[in-house]
Amino acid sequence: MNERGMLVVISGFSGVGKGTVIQMVLDELPSLRFSVSCTTRAPRYGEENGVNYYFLSEKEFEKKIEQDAFVEYTKTFTNYYGTLKSEIDAPIAAGGDVLLELNVVGARNIKKLYPDCITVFVVPPSLEALKARLVGRGTESEESLERRLREIETESKDIKNYDYVVTNNVARNCAAEIVGIIRSEHLRPARQNLNNLFPSEE
Ligand code: 5GP
Repeated sequence: MNERGMLVVISGFSGVGKGTVIQMVLDELPSLRFSVSCTTRAPRYGEENGVNYYFLSEKEFEKKIEQDAFVEYTKTFTNYYGTLKSEIDAPIAAGGDVLLELNVVGARNIKKLYPDCITVFVVPPSLEALKARLVGRGTESEESLERRLREIETESKDIKNYDYVVTNNVARNCAAEIVGIIRSEHLRPARQNLNNLFPSEE
């Protein structure tokens, strides 16, 4: 029988560079699949429907809530974000690993539902650098920027609950650390099928 796949949850403040790091991790581990979330926020420049997110209207999102299609969802500010059951259950049952990019609320909920998931929080080398980057990104309105800065304060209180914290100083190094975590987690006895090595007497 196949080993069950592993869920890897990545969180981090807005503007910390999670997107780049996650892409590097996915490139390095071709068997790792990205869980595409649904959101009601508008696509940013370069984002594609079905690749970065499934971009839905509020009505479409609420219909999926009614249909019980989400394993978890949250409403942050004015937008919904949610993970579809279909993005994770079948792949992990088939033995594949799935990477989820979630806020702290989503990570907490997933950890409750899948206690053997691994959670990683990406921090910036300094808060000043992060704020400068967020402003420089230029994709946020003044109001949204304010909210995201407040969110940093709230989210930082949850960092201690994560399994791992990695610093994104150089994206390639940060991605290599996450790849190392995933590979090491696969070496835990509970995640390995050791029956061939030590067949039972029965
Ligand atoms: P952004 O709008 O910058 O893409 O994402 C905003 C926040 O929502 C980020 O912290 C991101 O990790 C989180 N997020 C993205 N998808 C999901 C999801 O499906 N569920 C939850 N709970 N958070 C999500």
